[in-house]
Amino acid sequence: MTRYQLFINNEWLDPNSGRWFPSEDPFSGEAWAEIPRGDAVDADRAVAAAANAFNGPWSRMSASERGMLLYKLGSLIERDAQKLAEIESRDNGKLIGDVLGQVRYMAKYFYYYGGLADKIQGHVVPMDKPKVFNYIRYEPMGVVVSITAWNSSLSLTTWKMAPALCAGNTIICKPSEYTSASLFELAKLTVEAGFPPGVFNVVTGFGAEVAEPLVRHPNVQRIAFTGGDEAGRKIYMMAAEGFKRVSLELGGKSPNIVFDDADMDQAVHGALSGVFSATGQTCVAGSRLLLQESIHDEFLQRIVDITKGAKIGDPADPKSQIGPITTKPQFDKVMRYIDIARQDGARCVAGGHALSGPGYGAGQFVEPTIFAGVTNDMRIAQEEVFGPVLSVLKFRDEEDAVRIANDIRFGLAAAVWTQSLHRAMFMTERLRAGTVWVNNYRSSSYTSPFGGFKDSGVGREGGIEAVREYMEPKSVWISTDLKMANPFGAK
Ligand code: NAD
Repeated sequence: MTRYQLFINNEWLDPNSGRWFPSEDPFSGEAWAEIPRGDAVDADRAVAAAANAFNGPWSRMSASERGMLLYKLGSLIERDAQKLAEIESRDNGKLIGDVLGQVRYMAKYFYYYGGLADKIQGHVVPMDKPKVFNYIRYEPMGVVVSITAWNSSLSLTTWKMAPALCAGNTIICKPSEYTSASLFELAKLTVEAGFPPGVFNVVTGFGAEVAEPLVRHPNVQRIAFTGGDEAGRKIYMMAAEGFKRVSLELGGKSPNIVFDDADMDQAVHGALSGVFSATGQTCVAGSRLLLQESIHDEFLQRIVDITKGAKIGDPADPKSQIGPITTKPQFDKVMRYIDIARQDGARCVAGGHALSGPGYGAGQFVEPTIFAGVTNDMRIAQEEVFGPVLSVLKFRDEEDAVRIANDIRFGLAAAVWTQSLHRAMFMTERLRAGTVWVNNYRSSSYTSPFGGFKDSGVGREGGIEAVREYMEPKSVWISTDLKMANPFGAK
């Protein structure tokens, strides 16, 4: 059993509460690490450290020096990718190969934002007034708090941390209570890379006990959140009280739309990997498959046949294709939605059961499940399951596909499978989602902004834009010969 400590000001500290809670391996069900149970006192300590660093050594560093540190951190992550991936996979139950790929890619985020640090330029404003020079500086906001979900602790944190530090802020990371361990390992690498004390801090525990005090803290300027909409809404409202800047990456129920002229082999693969990758536990899961009427039956049969052959098992076994559900409450939620779908009249054509017994560890497994005959008013078409459950709907033509796809409160992602340029262009313009893929699914990159329309979120992560989301523009006016008039007349 590994006992972790809070990471504040480059020091390892016991939590104020003197309490720890277990982190469990979702496959075996066994507790393997003890996570410090942080509270408001720990939140205060972390904010003080982050604020001191922001006002002290960190702000005196040049942007190039900051960039070099980020770059160094990226190279350490690459060096230790296997170790980081094993720890994260042990906590979230994702397939080891997938997590390893994510961790290696995470290093590239640090290279990208490391390189960008000294290229964030302000600009001179063409002025309508004489004898004055006006320019815009972009300045860091101060202390950033990152609060993240359990599905990809390291990546979700990286998406916030890399641009926030690139911009010159300091950061406190509060990972999910289910998957905290990997961030402590990341903290060790920030020390090795040479980050000054207080620039990066990890405070763990439960939302109400430690994340809320962080969000409400008067010396925190910016909140970056990934998680469910219930917590997201609370955080948005708490942050509003202090007029804090916020980004929210929330849920989705993304339409994956297949037209009759698509390359069917590609579309079949895209439909399956779109929803069953990461055992469906990704915010961009293509969990609503919209099939054009003329290809519906044949396409459905193909995905059902393939799904029935999926290899389900230990995420540490490289041959496994579907792993366990990460948490017990999430497992219960997935099973509940399978019941709801059946009760609402959807037809279960693949899977639909929990799996236990030899090879299934503690039994937190759900078969990859496909529901046919789904209509868009059913709960299984409208609500996020966050598990390996696919809803299949039929559509007539482009207009019908757009109507169904957009008739939902979410707007995170969408995909279109067609060989017609006209159709592709029409659909990409009409779909209300932050990301639209054509003839591919789940592609993402540090170079391109990611985020949601509608209830899927606020703000963007990734790309150059993300750095601006961690900066305030400052308008500076310099007189070249501007004479000030005496407001009370000549004396
Ligand atoms: P969650 O909202 O329960 O928890 C997320 C984080 O918020 C955790 O660290 C938790 O401790 C914290 N939290 C909970 N209540 C809080 C409160 N009152 N105040 C402050 N912090 C609080 O989400 P989850 O169950 O961990 O993750 C699943 C959800 O995350 C899904 O809805 C999924 O769609 C979403 N998600 C979104 C993206 C995206 O980029 N859009 C990516 C991954 C996951």
